[in-house]
Amino acid sequence: MKFATKAIHAGIEPDPSTGAVMTPIFQTSTYAQTSPGDHKGYEYGRTQNPTRSVLEKNLAALENGTEAICFSSGLAAQDAVVKLFSSGDEVLAVNDLYGGSYRQMVRVWGQWGLKSRFVDMYTAANVEREISPATKLIWIETPTNPMLNIVDIAAVCAIARKHGILTCIDNTFASPYLQNPLDLGADIVLHSATKYIGGHSDVVHGCLVVKDAELAQRLHFLQNACGAVPGPQDCFLILRGIKTLHLRVQRACENAAVIAEYLSKHPKVEKVYWPGFASHPGHEIAKKQMRMFGAMVSFDLKDNSLEHATKVMSSTELFTLAESLGGVESLIGHPASMTHASIPREERLKVGLTDSLIRLSVGVEDVDDLIEDLGKSLS
Ligand SMILES: *Cc1c(COP(=O)(O)O)cnc(C)c1O
Repeated sequence: MKFATKAIHAGIEPDPSTGAVMTPIFQTSTYAQTSPGDHKGYEYGRTQNPTRSVLEKNLAALENGTEAICFSSGLAAQDAVVKLFSSGDEVLAVNDLYGGSYRQMVRVWGQWGLKSRFVDMYTAANVEREISPATKLIWIETPTNPMLNIVDIAAVCAIARKHGILTCIDNTFASPYLQNPLDLGADIVLHSATKYIGGHSDVVHGCLVVKDAELAQRLHFLQNACGAVPGPQDCFLILRGIKTLHLRVQRACENAAVIAEYLSKHPKVEKVYWPGFASHPGHEIAKKQMRMFGAMVSFDLKDNSLEHATKVMSSTELFTLAESLGGVESLIGHPASMTHASIPREERLKVGLTDSLIRLSVGVEDVDDLIEDLGKSLS
């Protein structure tokens, strides 16, 4: 089955008891048993929920995995992955990471003796040099947030496999429509489904997708044992969002390509970060591992004062100044004070995340209107 068909049909059947074409919201915490232990596969709402089961089947298909495990947020999904490891183990993570992921690794897991090191993974050989005997997990985000660097997933996963290290790819920025890390050798794919998968900025949700049955079982155990599960209504909203995932991401990427080009020629813009440019250092790898180049675009201004950047961000009308990304509506954001405020300024500057860097999540509006909006606010 091809992607667009999977988005609409994988794991989804009319409800057997009523014929409802759309998966019902099973708003229940418990299920009747005819005699103790005799039930229809559902015992308690944290452990299983039929709306969630349908979503998990659908997500597994979208990422070419065998099982998906859903959580109440992307960070709850990350929390489950980290709980596979023990005190004394080490995580090697890419050095340009979503701020909340960085915060959880350093300030929560650091306290429990799990060490994280943040390294340049844009040359795969560098990853091999950084591996220590304690390294048990390699954590990749690509394209990275907000600098839009590209990591060669297949190359890094091959190195990890050789050393018996597990790999987890945060695939939130690409979405399953653009990139499928399990096909490139990754062990775990993570999504903040809050973003492209949900796509309408109306729900917070996370998931993991794997191929390996034993790993799936360990993660299902953690999902139930720790309990950060999504509610059935949230699962329904994610299922609804997925039905147009391919259409939304396709259009958003087309719009982003036009906007990136426009910004790169604008006299007030110093630099545009977008992997679709032939001059982007990760362009060839992006071409190899992604279907399109994504709809996130970051840029820096010639007058790189915080004041000027603030003025631009506060004066757009269609681009809403807000955290998050991946919805149908276009957003503009300031990573240094918003999504990445939890990362120390020296760390931010090391990867080029200046105080004046602006990040766009390009939506599916008419691109002419989006360009007019940016043009007005830049002048
Ligand atoms: C938003 C985001 C997360 C965290 O997900 P939540 O659903 O907000 O918990 C993780 N990684 C990336 C790349 C994100 O953009």
